[in-house]
Amino acid sequence: MSQAFVDSVLSLIVRTSTDLPPDVRSAMQVAMAQETPETQSSQALSIIAQNVDLASAGEGAICQDTGMPTFEVKTPVGANQITMKQQFRDAVAEATRRGKLRPNSVDSITGENSGTNLGPGTPIIHFEQWENRDEIEVKLILKGGGCENMNVQYSLPSDLAHLGRADRSLEGVRKCILHAVWNAQGKGCAPGAVGVCIGGDRTSGYVGAKEQLFRTLDDVNPDPRLADLEAAIMGEVNKLGVGAMGFGGRVSLIGCKIGVLNRLPASFFVSVAYDCWAFRRLGVVIDAQTGEIRRWLYRDPAKPVAAMADQAGFRRTGREVVLTTPLFEAQVRDLKVGDVVLVSGRAFTGRDAVHHHLMNHEPPVDLRGAVLYHCGPVVARDGEGWKVTAAGPTTSIREEPYQADVIRRYGVRAVIGKGGMGARTLAALAECGAVYLNAIGGAAQFYARTIKAVEGVSLMEFGTPEAMWHLRIEDFPAIVTMDAHGNSLHKDVEQASAQELAAIGR
Ligand code: SF4
Repeated sequence: MSQAFVDSVLSLIVRTSTDLPPDVRSAMQVAMAQETPETQSSQALSIIAQNVDLASAGEGAICQDTGMPTFEVKTPVGANQITMKQQFRDAVAEATRRGKLRPNSVDSITGENSGTNLGPGTPIIHFEQWENRDEIEVKLILKGGGCENMNVQYSLPSDLAHLGRADRSLEGVRKCILHAVWNAQGKGCAPGAVGVCIGGDRTSGYVGAKEQLFRTLDDVNPDPRLADLEAAIMGEVNKLGVGAMGFGGRVSLIGCKIGVLNRLPASFFVSVAYDCWAFRRLGVVIDAQTGEIRRWLYRDPAKPVAAMADQAGFRRTGREVVLTTPLFEAQVRDLKVGDVVLVSGRAFTGRDAVHHHLMNHEPPVDLRGAVLYHCGPVVARDGEGWKVTAAGPTTSIREEPYQADVIRRYGVRAVIGKGGMGARTLAALAECGAVYLNAIGGAAQFYARTIKAVEGVSLMEFGTPEAMWHLRIEDFPAIVTMDAHGNSLHKDVEQASAQELAAIGR
């Protein structure tokens, strides 16, 4: 069954990366219906919907961050897990070679990318055995770094900002979950879903929280106490007003799933796994003899999937500001928080490795008047050149220790990213005449279509996602969320939602 099994796992990976499961689609449809029309959040949801359609139609990655592949496997007693582990690795490497997974496995000390998604600890594979069943169940979740960074573990009792004391009780757990959603703001690409584990130790708590994400969003917890808590959270959490991408809005969360593990008497952990709207999770049941797929989990291949978006393309209002690079100080200082811009011309990608590099080295290109895009794209060879196949923004706050210096030293006029940045960057924007533009996190297919050419690449030694790509973009839509006048939508939404959090928590 060797090759057939590899092919089945490969199909699972490709489908998971490119096609959002039906329960997540319907939760996102509800979110779209609830959001106030013509707001920044509804615009974000509309782009997300188009992105989901583009990804499934073209079998492209829904988000360029295809995350940490995590497999949950159940096998018949006696199945050879050593062989199977190698087959999972073969399928992951092949999916990466085909551009369905971004090379995401880097050496934690040197930063070197293996290029295959293989390495110590990647992919993650958990095996369990079951009796009286002759088939193999494989479930897969692809959870990206932006939302993974929003995971949090509380040790109760604890004092939580804006909520006061959280005790060792379900009420304390409720406060922790509300706090986690508020704290994520737009950095985890809201609206998200949370898997929660009450109890366990520090390790099993996080594993248990992630396991909750394998439940469908519309199921009902068999434990009535937890079912009540899940319903209570979903009933009140959207009052926070975080909204899609943290733009402020009516929908901040699309699902809350809670499990419980026994704990040591001295410990009471509440572990929260935050997943973004690009909640990629599917499964298959495989014939243990032939290696072929018997049936799919979470989706019915016989049922046609309805389109999420009611129209293709960016919904223009006529009020968009058209920007062409290089940008000049006066035109950037004209921009205000809330303006929607369409950017054309040259943009350079740069994320963690590039920002760190620029602290001690001159940039490989002239960044005066430039647009710097926080993005780690999926890029494939195209003859002698390159083609970007997925290119949404990455979480900008990681670059906060560097961004102000990069703007001051090299004359960058616009930074595109997601989730917003902090006070140091805001001060540099005002001082130098620059703006922060928020693109829609995870909308990798949508933005890939605004990239008309790859004109070059620098710093390739950092690996594909971390290199500096020279992109020719056309009508790239984004929202000014931090301007050159000291205004930040992110700061405003965080403060307003903190007040709501305090009111809900009472
Ligand atoms: S949608 Fe956002 S948080 Fe999710 S994987 Fe993509 S970039 Fe990361």
